[in-house]
Amino acid sequence: MEITLATHYGFCQGVKNAINIVNNINHDNKPIYMLNKLVHNNNVCEQFINNGIIILDDDRSLEEKINSINEGTIIFSAHGHDKKLNTLAKNKNLNIIDTTCPKVILNEKSIIKALNENKTVIYIGIKKHPETIASLSISNKIIFLDFFNPDYSLIENLDNVSVHNQTTLIQDDLKKINDVLIKKIKHIEIHNDICFATTLRQKCFDQITNEDVIFVIGDKISSNSTRLYEVAKNKFKIDVYHISNLEEIKKLDLHKYKKGFITAGASTPDQVINPIIKYLTNY
Ligand code: SF4
Repeated sequence: MEITLATHYGFCQGVKNAINIVNNINHDNKPIYMLNKLVHNNNVCEQFINNGIIILDDDRSLEEKINSINEGTIIFSAHGHDKKLNTLAKNKNLNIIDTTCPKVILNEKSIIKALNENKTVIYIGIKKHPETIASLSISNKIIFLDFFNPDYSLIENLDNVSVHNQTTLIQDDLKKINDVLIKKIKHIEIHNDICFATTLRQKCFDQITNEDVIFVIGDKISSNSTRLYEVAKNKFKIDVYHISNLEEIKKLDLHKYKKGFITAGASTPDQVINPIIKYLTNY
């Protein structure tokens, strides 16, 4: 198959930075806990487990997880976290490693600034996503709008509003929500907080000309990979596959396709992407 590669795909700087921090942790005899998946990719997480890190990927809140730990190091993920948890961990004498992406930190600061200026803050995000949970923990005054199902009754009669959002949303769909807010609220400032890495990866679909199939490589649990897949599905009439790994793509009969476009989410490692590129190129 003839292959076109997206000009920007795979790991973003925030993910590289987080992995680098974890790979440089000094291992002593005490346990190291990752409170949830550092980045949403199972391949990356398996490598951490192989390096002796315990990943607490269950449904408990971060607070419950920290309360269950008595010694060692805890790692906060790249998505951000409730800063009150730092105090909880310090009170338990736990060593804290924070891998929050600088862009997420910037967004959190801008929410705090708006609150300090007595603005009403609206946050648009995906329900239960760690970044959304972290952002909403800044203040219980923040009004949450679900990216997939915004309840506009929550914003009736608001004024002096600052609108913020999760970093890995879809640009076009976010714009639709923001356009409604602009119409309904007189004094409003919109902070489009989708990160540069996410924007670049979504923009790469503009490269597509005569390809007859698109492959989005990334874990199904990854927000940015899933959003990339959704963008492609909505934008093009050709077939789009969301592929987690080589084993998955090997099960597909792809003989009818002549020219494929490959991209990958910001949490997908090269060791997952490269074998798929090789497989498809030789198909
Ligand atoms: Fe940071 Fe964006 Fe990467 Fe998330 S996707 S880690 S916000 S650069």
